[in-house]
Amino acid sequence: MTSAGRFAPSPSGELHVGNLRTAMLAWLFARSTGRGFLLRVEDLDRARAGAEEVQLRDLAAVGVTWDGDVVRQTDRGPLYAEAITRLEEAGLTYECFCTRREIQEAPSAPHAPQGAYPGTCRNLDRAELEYRRSIRPAAIRLRADVVEYAVQDVLHGTFTGAVDDFVLRRNDGVTAYNLAVVVDDADQGIDQVVRGDDLLPSTPRQAYLASLLDIPVPEYVHVPLVVNRDGVRLAKRDGAVTLADLAHAGVAAHEVRSLLLESLGLPGGTLDQALPALDPARLPRQPWVWTGMDGASAG
Ligand code: GLU
Repeated sequence: MTSAGRFAPSPSGELHVGNLRTAMLAWLFARSTGRGFLLRVEDLDRARAGAEEVQLRDLAAVGVTWDGDVVRQTDRGPLYAEAITRLEEAGLTYECFCTRREIQEAPSAPHAPQGAYPGTCRNLDRAELEYRRSIRPAAIRLRADVVEYAVQDVLHGTFTGAVDDFVLRRNDGVTAYNLAVVVDDADQGIDQVVRGDDLLPSTPRQAYLASLLDIPVPEYVHVPLVVNRDGVRLAKRDGAVTLADLAHAGVAAHEVRSLLLESLGLPGGTLDQALPALDPARLPRQPWVWTGMDGASAG
């Protein structure tokens, strides 16, 4: 497959209606543009036993179907290692020994964006490097030569955001999300990324990394989230928000699907029925407030 969209859940628990709404949108965007649709389980971190199975079942229950086999990030270590080696060989990485606390306490570098890595380990001399290596394992950071980068998003237009020397591989050996997502999307032929707009701020880092790896940048569509009555991103603690909770309250998956489609200004029914009505220009740009099955409303 050469052209595809995808949904890439982290199997940390059950999907809630916000996650399902984003998955449905990703499916609709891919299918309405003649793309394939792939499912990737982002299980490098935060994986909980049994969660993947329930997530896949719930996606299928709202009509989100995918092509081919599910891909799991934990099966793809060599691919990430190869990308990091390429960056290393190009002089675009360095070892970092900082703890989270040291980073918080370090004075920030001049002109660096808020929260950026202050560059403590960027230019360690040989002796310092040897000494630090003897104390704790290193994380691998990108040696970025920009402080911001611009991306194009179908809903947000041009978005310029911070790029710092972000982590590529953590010091426990786990590949960082920003590296894995870029490598996977390219390897899987994914050229359209539809996901929650909470991820928009990390997108410039990913697009910049793609440029360094000579990887084409996908089309981005960052969609509004579902929030609770306080305007905070929906979470499990917000009551009946998963298909299992809702089934328990007597609401079937197809009814949840229709409600979610209607929240997007699309006709309720199956995803195939909604497909011809998808018009990016007419999608809601605001978060959707979930107030339960009866009263959910546009916020
Ligand atoms: N695995 C990420 C999440 O569940 C999504 C990453 C992405 O879509 O790029 O938040």
